[in-house]
Amino acid sequence: MRAAHRLDTLPPYLFKELDRLASDLRRQGKDVINLGIGDPDRPTPEPVVEALVAAAHNPANHRYPDYAGHPDFRQAVAAYYARRFGVELDPATEVLGLIGSKEGIAHLIWAWADPGDVVLVPDPAYPVYRTQALLAGAEPYDLPLRPETGFLPDLAAIPPAVLSRARMLWLNYPNNPTGAVATRAFYEEAVAFARRHDLLLCSDAAYVETGFDGYRAPSVLEVPGAKEVAVEFYSLSKPFNMTGWRIAAAVGNRTAIDALGTLKSHLDSGPFTAVQRAAIQALSEPEGPVSAMNDLYRRRRDMAVSLLREMGLPVTPPLSTFYLWVPNPRGWSSAETARFFLERSAVVVTPGNAYGAHGEGWFRISLTISDERLRQGLERMAAALGA
Ligand SMILES: *Cc1c(COP(=O)(O)O)cnc(C)c1O
Repeated sequence: MRAAHRLDTLPPYLFKELDRLASDLRRQGKDVINLGIGDPDRPTPEPVVEALVAAAHNPANHRYPDYAGHPDFRQAVAAYYARRFGVELDPATEVLGLIGSKEGIAHLIWAWADPGDVVLVPDPAYPVYRTQALLAGAEPYDLPLRPETGFLPDLAAIPPAVLSRARMLWLNYPNNPTGAVATRAFYEEAVAFARRHDLLLCSDAAYVETGFDGYRAPSVLEVPGAKEVAVEFYSLSKPFNMTGWRIAAAVGNRTAIDALGTLKSHLDSGPFTAVQRAAIQALSEPEGPVSAMNDLYRRRRDMAVSLLREMGLPVTPPLSTFYLWVPNPRGWSSAETARFFLERSAVVVTPGNAYGAHGEGWFRISLTISDERLRQGLERMAAALGA
């Protein structure tokens, strides 16, 4: 018995060794603080939970959902994009319900890239773009994200021979793991680039609602004509503390939406309709929950940034996301850094190279843990460094 060869193309999972070390420490009775996981610690807003409960009592919602998402959900997403970004979307052809954006991101790659096609992926990045391109038999081509260029890719540096085979360009701003944001001007450049080179521009907007110090992230679809070349993934997971609910939407270019919808109709049957009802509630009154979470993450960001700076780690406070992207201490590698904090302070941080080769030299701290545990974790890290 053996699994399919295509699984052999997946790179080794770098978190695995850390997980093993962390559970060893827990077994020894150590109090491990996990600053590695990007999963909101606060509950889903109560009105959203109530909307789910009410919808769960309605037997009409117990049957198969609409493949493409309930028309009311698609309408709510379109109305929200109009309000929030000034972007007009046709709910019937330019919005598709997803079982979380990870699902949609993975399947869009299968729906768009053939074996041998190039998929342009940022490095460091959320691993799904790269691993799904590999599984689909396509070739991921890494676009380095460097601090000198604000962690934006240098599109002009992509060799013509690569570009001629490229089919998709993945962008993720606000960015996990670096916390970087994209300007409107960069999006204009990316849309023009995608048009020039016949690329589907795929924007992963998982953190578009997170913003501090007055910052509000744009949608790539705000660029005039963007819908001709771009799709965007909007997720309710992070802004509404709904990671467990699995609800998101793909919006934008109708050819891509249609391709993704066709593939998905052969794979799944859409998100639970009651969950879509809850998502409609979230999108109808987003301001309260979103600003409460932004206030919370901003406070944690400020606390963590000042403690890290006291340790001699020159971290830049991000304008969005709930991550801090921190240079390794003492010239260590990312693996050495993660291992040091785990062994010496029982604190889990994510090594930057887990997100790609260009994440080497960095580690990531997540702010999705109580203020008290975050402070305790950082104080232990400072003590271990002797700072
Ligand atoms: C969390 C995350 C996602 C996945 O979100 P879901 O909608 O819960 O699947 C996608 N992209 C990035 C960059 C993320 O950090």
